[in-house]
Amino acid sequence: MSLDNLRDLYQQVILERYKKPRNKGKTNPIDRYQKGHNPSCGDTIELTLKLDAAGDRIEEVKFDGEGCAISMASADLMAEALRGKKVEEALSMVQRFQAMMRGEDEFPQELRKLNVMQGVAQFPVRIKCANLSWHTLKAALEQAQADVGEFVSNEAID
Ligand code: ZN
Repeated sequence: MSLDNLRDLYQQVILERYKKPRNKGKTNPIDRYQKGHNPSCGDTIELTLKLDAAGDRIEEVKFDGEGCAISMASADLMAEALRGKKVEEALSMVQRFQAMMRGEDEFPQELRKLNVMQGVAQFPVRIKCANLSWHTLKAALEQAQADVGEFVSNEAID
């Protein structure tokens, strides 16, 4: 497959996820809740998480939001990839995603769906769109409990 075809395929996946997200809505119960905002594009996201009884494993992630195709597709793919992951694994996935957006890393085989977002790294203005859901996830996981509070903004984050 040529690079151009590969790029088209990735764009198709992003558009498909945007039009028909598989992880939209809210978890029940809501163990973590975090809103995120990307002022440079106007994307907003509301992330809800269901954790296991011990609170150290993610059972389900759902999102609601309004935004561009990249921000919404990224949230949908993220939600799927996080199912069953330990909180510490999820936090290292945040770091890996951010490194991927700098062109420095990619996900291993079992998480390769996330590599669909890799092409965004070539478009610096859209990196914040792709990072929004991950940035919001990090804030959600760093709470001690569900906290219906302020938006986190990724304005100051590269
Ligand atoms: Zn955006």
